[in-house]
Amino acid sequence: MKSPHYDLHMHTKYLGCANGTMEIPAMLAECERLGVKVMGITDHLNTLDKLPLHRPIRDEIAALQTDIAVYFGVELNYQSCDGEFAYSPEVRDELGFQFAIGGIHSPYVESYDLRQIVEIQHRHHLKTCADPLVQVLVHPYWFGKKTFEQRGWPWFDTMKAVPVAYARELGQAARDSGTAIEINACANLVNPAYSSDYVKEYVEYLGVIASEGALFTVGSDAHDIHRLEHIEAAWRVVEQLGLPPERIWRPTGKPLGGKE
Ligand SMILES: [Zn+2]
Ligand SMILES: [Zn+2]
Repeated sequence: MKSPHYDLHMHTKYLGCANGTMEIPAMLAECERLGVKVMGITDHLNTLDKLPLHRPIRDEIAALQTDIAVYFGVELNYQSCDGEFAYSPEVRDELGFQFAIGGIHSPYVESYDLRQIVEIQHRHHLKTCADPLVQVLVHPYWFGKKTFEQRGWPWFDTMKAVPVAYARELGQAARDSGTAIEINACANLVNPAYSSDYVKEYVEYLGVIASEGALFTVGSDAHDIHRLEHIEAAWRVVEQLGLPPERIWRPTGKPLGGKE
């Protein structure tokens, strides 16, 4: 079964997170080349002072002429352990964000304790699924390798550290709330920090979530124009898991840019 050709997670240069190659017209041209049909631009909103920086992104999307449906999204990050996203219906409506993806971006432990690290991730995954303002849980069990290296901790390189019961519970929570679990190319599938064994285990982990009936979505999470093409790795995993198109979430309604 062929995966729908969506890419619903990518960054621009405007928030200073992606590099200078990530200008919206160039990103669109590359997505057209790759055969992407639905595109979502999702820059970070870690704190509210960054909200005005999303305005030029919105205006550029609205001006696009293309057959691709281009949606204006946002990526949310917890502001602290068990904290909140910098997001509300008012924030959403002020800028007109069409969808929100979100998740945990830190291990949140003082000293190395693998069981505790995994438990904290799991807790935030469930919290994200319970958030009615967030449509997508981003990159479960992605970690920044530098965080581990700087502290001299063993690297997180096996999904065997995650109990199967956690995968099942997340799959059930996502199914019940309608939250889509992200299949993320650059963070999880083609991240040079991870071994091929990790990737194999990661796909098995997604398979357990799938068996509970959850929806999924696909994103490159590209921060450089040459990494947009890695979205194909996420599409391949959709096919590998045998997920039918109705299990792959996308924003609905009129896209801000391009055509429906
Ligand atoms: Zn992220
Ligand atoms: Zn991202």
